[in-house]
Amino acid sequence: MEAPADLIAIRRDLHAHPELRFEEVRTSGIVADYLMTHGYTPHRGFAKTGVVATLDTGRPGPSIILRADMDALPVTERGGQAHASRHEGRMHACGHDGHTTMLLGAAAALAVAPPERGIVHFVFQPGEEGGAGADVMIREGLLERFPADACFGLHNWPGLQAGQFGVRAGPVMAGGWRFALRLRGRGAHAAQPHRGTDSVVAGAAFVQAAQTLVSRRTDPLIPAVVSVCMFHAGSTDNILPDGAELAGTIRALDRGVLETLKDGLKDIAAGIATSCGVEADIRFHSPYPVTVNSVPETEFVRGVIRALDTDGYPAAMTDIPPSLASEDFGFFLEARPGVYAMLGNGEGSAPLHAPDYDFNDAIIPRGVAYWTTLARRFMARPDEKGRSHDNV
Ligand SMILES: [Zn+2]
Ligand SMILES: [Zn+2]
Repeated sequence: MEAPADLIAIRRDLHAHPELRFEEVRTSGIVADYLMTHGYTPHRGFAKTGVVATLDTGRPGPSIILRADMDALPVTERGGQAHASRHEGRMHACGHDGHTTMLLGAAAALAVAPPERGIVHFVFQPGEEGGAGADVMIREGLLERFPADACFGLHNWPGLQAGQFGVRAGPVMAGGWRFALRLRGRGAHAAQPHRGTDSVVAGAAFVQAAQTLVSRRTDPLIPAVVSVCMFHAGSTDNILPDGAELAGTIRALDRGVLETLKDGLKDIAAGIATSCGVEADIRFHSPYPVTVNSVPETEFVRGVIRALDTDGYPAAMTDIPPSLASEDFGFFLEARPGVYAMLGNGEGSAPLHAPDYDFNDAIIPRGVAYWTTLARRFMARPDEKGRSHDNV
């Protein structure tokens, strides 16, 4: 199936005009205009630039959220296409231009041929890249204003064949925390270290000890990562500095393991403070939850993608390996059951966040078909035991 020309035009226009987290003003305007053209009355303003449109069939049934992210990354594009970014240092390097376009296509298609009952909310979310825009929308009351029984997200995936779906039950993307460690010692002459307390040696000991957490303190069968990515100290080669600053990130596919890593880093910081005679202050920030697909909804999505495995597309991977990247859709899946699924961007695709990445327009119809089939099938599901929609 070929992608409709109007959707390709929108995708390429969004690609040429990328906007960073919470600055998606032009993008959200295009989204809202398109939705209005197709009969919706979009709500605007959640998390500054979020857009939500609702399709109410008028017949009692379940409600679902279908979510796309809209933001770009601070990357300078190195692709040569005519639709390459017009802005130095801004680029749709994660394909959110494609996600937005596919959900718009689905909203248009479902407006013409709606599900037999229930309510579908189309959520266009800002600030996925490091902004936890999902968390912001939920804190601002998204789920109270637009109640949903389940939430669904879709991300293009380089390395999977173009149009091939992938899904797994349970943890699919890692949760994580960023951390910052400040060490305060006492500066001294390089030749008289005993007259001060050395923050550089203390920092080096912290880096080394932090690497024993994953090997010695967490379950080796559960993937996890500790990375110290920044270490700043000193000004010249014959002075021991009076402090050091370190920063990094921890990632894991299990909430308990994340807590273990946090506790471990605090213990190491405290131990090094004692043994090296420095003050150590470790702070954690920017938490992302583990993105966990609920089991019954994953089983449901497996049915959806199997039904779409026609027209010569490669068979879906119904138990795709998880990734240690993080994704703020985890906030939706902490609040409601649901599924975060992958759609192949092609085996030859550059990786996500790379300067030569581009979303593959050929997969737009697959994404639209995924959303429309998912919505129709979800509403056709038999009600759970004891739940009735007759008297709503
Ligand atoms: Zn990304
Ligand atoms: Zn992304």
